[in-house]
Amino acid sequence: MSSSEFESIFEHAAALVRIRCKGFHGVETVLAALNSRVVSGHSDPRIHRELFFEPWIDSQQLGVPQDTAEEVARELHQLSVLTVWTRLRCTEVPFDEDGTITETNSAEELERVRSIPCPHCGTFHDIVPSLVETLYAPNFPMSDQVAPFTAGRLRLGLAKPVAQADRSDPNTLRCISIIRDSSVRDEPFAVLLTRALATNTKVEHVPAPHQAWMAAWMGPIVITLGFLVLIGPIVNFAGQAAGWVCAALVILVIFLVIRGDTQVKLAPSAASRSLTRSGIMGTLLLLTAGTTGLQVSLSKGEGVAISLLESHSLILPIKLEYGGTNYWLVGLGVGLFFLTAVFVLVYDKRIGWFGS
Ligand SMILES: [Zn+2]
Repeated sequence: MSSSEFESIFEHAAALVRIRCKGFHGVETVLAALNSRVVSGHSDPRIHRELFFEPWIDSQQLGVPQDTAEEVARELHQLSVLTVWTRLRCTEVPFDEDGTITETNSAEELERVRSIPCPHCGTFHDIVPSLVETLYAPNFPMSDQVAPFTAGRLRLGLAKPVAQADRSDPNTLRCISIIRDSSVRDEPFAVLLTRALATNTKVEHVPAPHQAWMAAWMGPIVITLGFLVLIGPIVNFAGQAAGWVCAALVILVIFLVIRGDTQVKLAPSAASRSLTRSGIMGTLLLLTAGTTGLQVSLSKGEGVAISLLESHSLILPIKLEYGGTNYWLVGLGVGLFFLTAVFVLVYDKRIGWFGS
């Protein structure tokens, strides 16, 4: 893989982070600082020290909030273009001398170093936050093979772990936020560090934002369009009840897919979430009502009876009827579908998904 290919993968990842980190101050500054490391042509941070990125130190040098540096680096690492490194230092060596025991981005290497005595003082050190630094560096591919992109990388969770009284040092919090699993917060620091290093992978082909957007919406689009086409024939050949059973199933599937997958990856606002969901579900309901010819009308005689107690029942003055196709409802459903689609397109364009 050429270095320009890695630069283009980094550009895609940076574009995704720009959308994600809209509310953070100084995102561009951090991205530019990391980009200068990526285009430097050097690959080994143990030789070229300037490749290392330590959010706490770099944010001070760049004049940006530490939260911005932490979150941008965390997300770029999750997108596979950065790796996490750790530097272990012997506590017996004075601070003005080089007491480095190891610098590694491999969990196995860390385990190996822990099993042998310290090269400086000959003892075994406990892995504690005061002995350790955690840093990031570009994930230069060591071979020509770049793994295909894993869509799950677009899922974000646990932006910033809440500092607890006894666990507020930046290395611990950084490891917890990298592991993205709040159940690990009570584990010993050595376990956290090993698990954070174990999240390092080969670099993957990160897609441009518009490709990631398309992939996230593909499922709901196929299901909804398939339903639009098939509901007519289903009602025609299998009957109205079958139409409603299909609609209920499709609504459940769409609800789960949009809520649990599409929107977690694209992470829009709460307002956009509820509008999109109600728009698509309203579409499916209107279409099913229209094709099955469901009619609700005011009734003078027999109405819909809802039994409340043994001998009492509530009679609503409405009547439910199935009839021929109701083209008004079908038209309303198709209209609502297009309105929802326009809303999603405009909203997601505004937050940058079609930028680059
Ligand atoms: Zn030592």
